[in-house]
Amino acid sequence: MVPMATLTVITNLKGAVTPDPARPWAVDFIEDAAIAAGGGKVLWTGPRAELPARFQDAGVVDGQGRWASPGFVDPHTHLLFGGDRSHEFNRRLHGVTYAQLAAEGGGIRETVRATRAATVPELVALGEERLRAYRRKGVLHLEAKTGYGLELEAESRLLEAYARLRSRGWSLDVTLMPAHDLPQEFAGDPDRYVAEVADSWQPELVRRHPGVASHCDVFVEKGVFTPAQGRAVLESGRRLGLKPRIHADEFCSTGGAELSAEVGAASADHLMFASDAGIRAMAQAGVVPTLLPATTLFLGMKDYAPARKMIAEGCRVALASDFNPGSCACIDPLLVLRLGCLQLRLTFEEAFTAMTLHPARSLGRADLGHLHPGASARVLLWDVKHPLDLVYWMGEAFLPAIVEPA
Ligand SMILES: [Zn+2]
Repeated sequence: MVPMATLTVITNLKGAVTPDPARPWAVDFIEDAAIAAGGGKVLWTGPRAELPARFQDAGVVDGQGRWASPGFVDPHTHLLFGGDRSHEFNRRLHGVTYAQLAAEGGGIRETVRATRAATVPELVALGEERLRAYRRKGVLHLEAKTGYGLELEAESRLLEAYARLRSRGWSLDVTLMPAHDLPQEFAGDPDRYVAEVADSWQPELVRRHPGVASHCDVFVEKGVFTPAQGRAVLESGRRLGLKPRIHADEFCSTGGAELSAEVGAASADHLMFASDAGIRAMAQAGVVPTLLPATTLFLGMKDYAPARKMIAEGCRVALASDFNPGSCACIDPLLVLRLGCLQLRLTFEEAFTAMTLHPARSLGRADLGHLHPGASARVLLWDVKHPLDLVYWMGEAFLPAIVEPA
């Protein structure tokens, strides 16, 4: 039992909107709601008139007539990197190709150089700035990858920075991703790099930073790593206790979705060109397809991921920001939610669930992404007539208040 002194009721809510963990795509809109919390957890959510008697004497938080929702969960970010590539963006608008920029040492190579040069305190400061931006917009938990170090010591500094961010109270899951790209030192020899990552770096990084990373990831794509190379990286990670995630089928179908099912990945991400067989395989294996529509928008591509087909096959789709310096300079959950509805053709209920419950599940977090008993009591309060306003008023920068009862 939670002592009465620590019980809190959030009341005077216009409503509460929450996915239901027991029903894959159902979202409840509870008008005139109340939420009872204790010990940092939701104990009860429902219509205020039905608040159980045991909460009548609890402390009260005034919801100010707003709509309560769970915090957004972002399951795919490249939170930590050094440098700034905004100058490159305008050069591309002026017609300079990515290949030209790369030949000049720009593109991802510029980010890798800047990340390798960054100290751990510098990385922590960058991370806090970005995490504050996410939080201000309602993302209360996110996944964050390494992968701009591409050498052992720089990847190790990224893990150290993530460990420090967590020790400062930021809620994040860390994914180890030294095989994000082929570093220049291994140009022309991806097999040698994959062997180095799988046999040497990943074991060493997990030994140095126990308990920091919970997942591993690899970029399976034409011109980057093959499915066989991806499998070697992920199987090495799994032997170290890391759950696989995969960057898959972003620019063409290379069998990434199929591989995610074969290795039992927690998620397969991007998937604009996932094959029908790959989609069926993900559905059967319970892989969460994680779609990144802001990246499609930022890259000016026309092919959004086939979300409707995935849902029809029984997949529990998630949406994520893919925040990174090259293909998605975006910390904006409402933009992702809106693209989910407007480009992926998800209903509001589907897009909302894909930004709360399903990403939380893909990260193994049953306590996040909903407001049912047992959920984290960190709650967003939106000053809107109805949650649909978050999508309908597509240019509005709604910012939620955040309530965190003890
Ligand atoms: Zn990514």
